[in-house]
Amino acid sequence: MRTTSPEGRITRRGFLECASAALASVGIAKNANAAESLLSAKREPDSATPGSQPVAGKIALEEHFVLAENVETSYAARDVRPDARQKIVDLGSGRIAEMDRGGLDICILSLTAPGVQGIPRAKEAIAQARRTNDYLAENIAKNPKRLKGFATLPLQDPDAAAQELRRCVKDLHFCGALVNGFSQVADANSAVYYDLPQYRPFWATVQELDVPFYLHPRDAFSIGQPCYEGYSWLAGSPWGFSAETSIHALRLMSSGLFDEYPKLKVILGHLGEGLTFGIWRVDHRIARGSGTPKAKLPMSHYLRENFYITTSGNFRTQALTNVILEVGADRILYSVDYPYEDVVEAKDWFDGAAISDSDRLKIARTNAENLFRF
Ligand code: MN
Repeated sequence: MRTTSPEGRITRRGFLECASAALASVGIAKNANAAESLLSAKREPDSATPGSQPVAGKIALEEHFVLAENVETSYAARDVRPDARQKIVDLGSGRIAEMDRGGLDICILSLTAPGVQGIPRAKEAIAQARRTNDYLAENIAKNPKRLKGFATLPLQDPDAAAQELRRCVKDLHFCGALVNGFSQVADANSAVYYDLPQYRPFWATVQELDVPFYLHPRDAFSIGQPCYEGYSWLAGSPWGFSAETSIHALRLMSSGLFDEYPKLKVILGHLGEGLTFGIWRVDHRIARGSGTPKAKLPMSHYLRENFYITTSGNFRTQALTNVILEVGADRILYSVDYPYEDVVEAKDWFDGAAISDSDRLKIARTNAENLFRF
C-alpha cells in the first residue's frame, strides 16, 4: 500500500487506507469513517457514526454516592452545579430515573473521594467504612436488580481493610472495592501508597476473594509541589487526578506486586489515567537504563494482564481508540462518573463512537458481566 506522495509526504489517501486497515485489524471500524475522523482535527470526530448500534442496558461502575452526613467534606461539595449534592446522596428513585435516562441497566456504586482515605485516624476510618458499606447494602437491597456496590476500605489499617473487604464480599455481596487513592495515615500530611510492604497481606486477600480493586483518583497533594503553586486547581480532576493515579498504578506495577499476586485485577477510570498513551515510553526508558523496577516484566505486560480500564469522564473517541490499540477491547468497561458527569452526554458519545459494534457491546455490557459474573 502506497502511503506517501512522490515527495515522500504522507498523503491523505495513504493515511486513510493505512489507518483504516490498522483499525479494522483490531476490530475498530469497518470502513474509512474512523480514519477520516482521526485525520481531521476540525471535524468533530465524536459525533455519531452512521448506522452504529447503541447498546441497551449498559453496566457502569464508577458511579458515586455519599452519606448525607459526609457530603460537605466530599468532592461533591465543591461541584459548581447546585444539584450535585442532592444527586449524590440520592440512592432511590432519583438515581434510578437518572440511570433510565442514561440507558444504564446496572450501576456499581462507590463512595466519592476522598472518602475514608482522607481520615487520618485509623479507628475513625474503620468505623466510617463500616457505616458506609452497611448504608450502601441497605439501599442496594431496595433495588437489587439495578444497584450493586463496591466496598469502602479503611486502608489506614491494612488488616482491617482486608477484613472489611471479606465482610463486604461474603456477607453484603459487593462486587469488589473502590479506593480513592493514597490514604492519609495518622498524620493529615501523609500519603501512604499501596505498593508498600505492609499492604502485601491485604493484596493476598484481594486475590483470594477474586474481586477487582478500583483505584480511583483523589487530588494530588499541592502542598510541597511547586508545579501546582498558583494553580491548585490543576491538582484536581483536570490533571492532578490522572498524574496521581497513574503514578500510583506504576508504583504497584514496578514494586513486583503482580509477580507475587498475578491474578490481581485493578481497575482504572478515565480511560486509564493516561497510562496507555505513555506506557511504551515507560518501558522504553527502563530498557535504556533509566529505571530500576523490582518487577520481572515490562510495565505494559501488567497493564494488559492485571488492569481493566473504564470510560468514566473521558468521552473522547481518539483516546478510546488508543486504549483499544494498547490493551484490547476486552479490558475496557463503560462508566460515566455520575454525578460529576452527565449520563446522557456519556451515552450519546459512546453509542455513536467510531468503534465496531462488537467492541461497543463488550465495553458497554458483556465485559462487565464476565468480570463480575452477573
Ligand atoms: Mn469518579
